[in-house]
Amino acid sequence: MTKEELLKAKIPCPETGIEIRHTLCDICSPSSHCGINAYVKDGVVIKVEGNQDHPYNRGLLCTKGASNRQYIYRKDRIRTPLKRTGPRGSGEFTPISWDEALDTIAGRLLDYRKAWGAQSVFFFSGYSKWYRPLLRRLANSFGTPNYGTESSSCFTSGLMAWETAIASPARADMKNCSLFLGWAMNPYHTSYNAARSMEAMKRAGTKFIIIDTMYTQTAEKIADLFLQPLPGTDGALALAIANDLIANDWIDRSYIDKYVHGFEEYAAYCRGFHAGNIEKLTGVPWEKVHRAAEMIHEYGHPMSIKESSAPLGHHMNGMQNYRAIMALSAITGNFDKKGGQLPVEFTFTHQASGYSTLEHRFETETRRPFLAPPVGGLRFPLWNELEKEAQSMDLPRQILEKTPYPIKAVMAFGMNFRMFPDSRKLEKAIDELDFFADADLFLTDSAKYADIVLPACSSFEREEFKSYPGGYAYYTKPVIPPLYESRPDTDIICELARRMDLDDPLLCQGYRACLEYILSPVSYTVQQLQDADTPLKVPEFKPHRELAALNKGLKTPTGKFELKSELIASHPEWGLDALPTYREPLDDIDPAEYPMVLTSGGRLPHALHSRLHDVPWLRTLRPNACAEMNPRDCARLGIKEGEPVELSTPTGSITAHALPSLHIPAGLVSLYHGYREANINDLIDADRLDPYSGFPAVRSNRCKVTRKGGCHE
Ligand code: SF4
Repeated sequence: MTKEELLKAKIPCPETGIEIRHTLCDICSPSSHCGINAYVKDGVVIKVEGNQDHPYNRGLLCTKGASNRQYIYRKDRIRTPLKRTGPRGSGEFTPISWDEALDTIAGRLLDYRKAWGAQSVFFFSGYSKWYRPLLRRLANSFGTPNYGTESSSCFTSGLMAWETAIASPARADMKNCSLFLGWAMNPYHTSYNAARSMEAMKRAGTKFIIIDTMYTQTAEKIADLFLQPLPGTDGALALAIANDLIANDWIDRSYIDKYVHGFEEYAAYCRGFHAGNIEKLTGVPWEKVHRAAEMIHEYGHPMSIKESSAPLGHHMNGMQNYRAIMALSAITGNFDKKGGQLPVEFTFTHQASGYSTLEHRFETETRRPFLAPPVGGLRFPLWNELEKEAQSMDLPRQILEKTPYPIKAVMAFGMNFRMFPDSRKLEKAIDELDFFADADLFLTDSAKYADIVLPACSSFEREEFKSYPGGYAYYTKPVIPPLYESRPDTDIICELARRMDLDDPLLCQGYRACLEYILSPVSYTVQQLQDADTPLKVPEFKPHRELAALNKGLKTPTGKFELKSELIASHPEWGLDALPTYREPLDDIDPAEYPMVLTSGGRLPHALHSRLHDVPWLRTLRPNACAEMNPRDCARLGIKEGEPVELSTPTGSITAHALPSLHIPAGLVSLYHGYREANINDLIDADRLDPYSGFPAVRSNRCKVTRKGGCHE
C-alpha cells in the first residue's frame, strides 16, 4: 500500500505516524468506562475503537463511546478560564488567566467562610464523577458539610435501601444464577455488556423474569415471563409476590430464622397485597404475579435480582419500593449466596471491585464536627444518617429560602440545571447566589450562569485511576495533551486547596500523591499500574465467600438482614416506616385534570442526560425531543406521528414531537430528558421528593397532552 492508502485506512505504522494509545471512555456511568484504543496522529485523535485487551469491554463500544471523537472535539469546548461580563445566563465572558481564575475563586470562598461560616459554601459534582473523592475531601478540609452531587437523584436511593437492610451495598451475582429477576432494567439502552451477558446466560438455560413499565427490548428478547406494572407500583407488586411465596411456603424458613429480622411483621403486612387487589393497584393480573412466584420457587435457587441504578428510586415511594423488591432476596434465602445478592464494599467511586482501598478514609479523615446540618439534612433525616453528605435536590429551596441558613457560593464541576426537577427553580436560585463557579468541558447553558468558568479536560487528555469488577486496577496515561488551556478536574481541586492554604498537605500535593495514599493497601504502585498500560488484576482481590457476612453478623442493629429496619424504628421523629410499606405514587395529583401518566428519566442508547444532544452523529439518531405514546392514545386524541403536542403539568408546559410507540402502555407518555428545547424537568414539581431518599419523582407524574391547536387529554 502507498503511504496515502495507509493514511486513508488509518493504519498505525511508522510510515503513517499513527499510534494506538490506550485510555478509557468516561461518557457514561463509572460502572462501565470501557477501554479505548485511540488512534493518534500528530497529537490528534483520528479514530477510536474498543480495546480488545480490556477486561470489561473486550473490544466493544456503544454508540456513545464510538462518538468519542466528536465528543472531545465539540466546538463548544471551553478554551480558557472565563470571567462573566454580562448578565447571568447570557454567555458573555472574557478570557482570563488560570492564576486570576483560581485566585478569584479561592479568595471568594474564603471570604464567605469568614463572613457566613464554611457551611455557606457548597461544593457540587455533576458529570463526570472521576474526581469525586478529592472534591469530597476538599469540602471536608474547607470545613463545610455541603458536598453534594448529581447522585442525589441517581443510584443512591438503591444504595440506601441496601444500607437500611444490610448496612452495606450489595450486587447481583448474575452470571451464577439460575433465575434472573430483572426489574426496571433495559441494558440494550444502557449497558451493552450486561445485555451480552444476559443473552449468553439465556443460551445456557438461565430463566428470566423481566419487570418493567415499558415493553423493552429486554422484555422482547430475554423474558420468559414479563410483568408490566404501572409506574411507581413496583413495591406493591413485590409485596404481592412475597405474599404468594409465603402463602405457598415457597420461602427458606431455616435461613429466615437464622439470618433475617422482622419476618413475621413483614409477612403480616404482605397479606394486604393479594389476588383481590393487585391488578387494581399495579395493573398486573394476579395470574402473572402467581406465575412469577412459581418461577421463583421452581428456578430461583439461586436467584439474582438486578435493576438499573435509578428507575426504582424516581418516585415519591421509590426507596420503599426498592426495599420491598430486595426483601425477596432475603425470604428466598438468596442473599449472601453464590448466584444471589452479594454484600460488597466499594473500592473506588462507588465501584465494588473486590479489593479494599483507603478511599473512605481519604475522603473523610479531614472532617471536623460541622456547626450546621448539610443541605437537605433536616428534611431528609434518613439520607443524612446514611449518606453524610448534602441532598442536592434541596439546594434550590435552601438558596431561595435561606433556611436553616444561607448558601452564598457554589463551586461546581459539571453542573446541569436540567437534571434537577423544576430546572427553572435552580436557575433562579443560582441567579440569586453571591458567587457561582463551574468547571466543565463544554460551555453549557448552566455554565453560562457562572461568574468564573474553568475548562476541564476529557479522559483522553489526563491520567486517571479506575477500578473494575473482578479485582482490576487501571491507571491511564493521557493519549493527547489537554486541548486548549483545559486541565484535569483534580488539578483544579488540588490547586484550590493550595491557594486557600487549607491544612491538608496531602491534597495540596496533587492527584498522584492522593492516589498513592488511597491505593496503599494494593501491591501495585501508581507508577506500576500506569506502566502496565492495561488493567491489572490485583493480588488483594477477595472472592465472595458464601454466607460469610451473615455468619459474621451484618453491621445492622440486629446483625441480620432487616426486613424491619431497627434504625428507622429507633427514630419515630423521622415519621418513616420501618417496614417496606407501600403508598400510591400518584395520589397527590388530580387525575381528572391531568389524565395521562407522565414518565421520564429512562435512557436512550445514544444519549446521556444533556451531554450528547450536541454531538452530531448521536443527535441524528433522534433529532427531535419526542413524546412517546401508545398508538391507541394517539388515535383517540387525533395525534399523528411527528405532530407537535403540548405536555402540561401544574409546574409548566413544553412542546415535543409525538412518537407513537407500542413499547409504551396506554395512558402513559414518556419523554427523554435534558433537551434544551423541551426540558421535561420543567414539568416536574421540585417538591415531589421521596421523604426517605429525597429523590425526585421524575418517573411518575400526571400531565395533560394537547394536540397543538386541537383536542386534549
Ligand atoms: S458511553 Fe458506551 S463506550 Fe463509553 S463507557 Fe459508557 S458504555 Fe462504554
